[in-house]
Amino acid sequence: MPEETLFDQILSGSVPSEAVYEDDVVYAFKDINPQAPVHVLVIPKKKLESFADVRSGDDTAVGAFMKGVSRVAAELGLEERGYRVVFNTGPEAQQSVLYLHAHILGGRQMSWPPG
Ligand code: AMP
Repeated sequence: MPEETLFDQILSGSVPSEAVYEDDVVYAFKDINPQAPVHVLVIPKKKLESFADVRSGDDTAVGAFMKGVSRVAAELGLEERGYRVVFNTGPEAQQSVLYLHAHILGGRQMSWPPG
């Protein structure tokens, strides 16, 4: 069994979070250390540990999660101005929580390359 992470605890409610959207597939909550005016984390209710697990994940579950991320961005009203979706994956990308999560960032002009 994979180790219980902070995001398992957030999903179960044992650690508090500020929800912005929830349905059968995803839970979305505000990042505690926002890097943009809108910074939301989206996690699948069916756990994967990282984006590296997506390729071996169930097609239906992975597809539903990706649709969920898109749905959250729409619910946040970000579609017209645009937004960035980030999956930090592994040590060099500084993934700090081993529970797949999409960062949705928006509400300001982004730059490229990212840091
Ligand atoms: P990552 O570095 O991609 O693994 O992203 C983890 C994110 O979780 C970071 O952006 C943190 O600011 C965020 N974070 C850590 N603890 C909490 C928490 N209790 N509630 C909400 N976001 C958190």
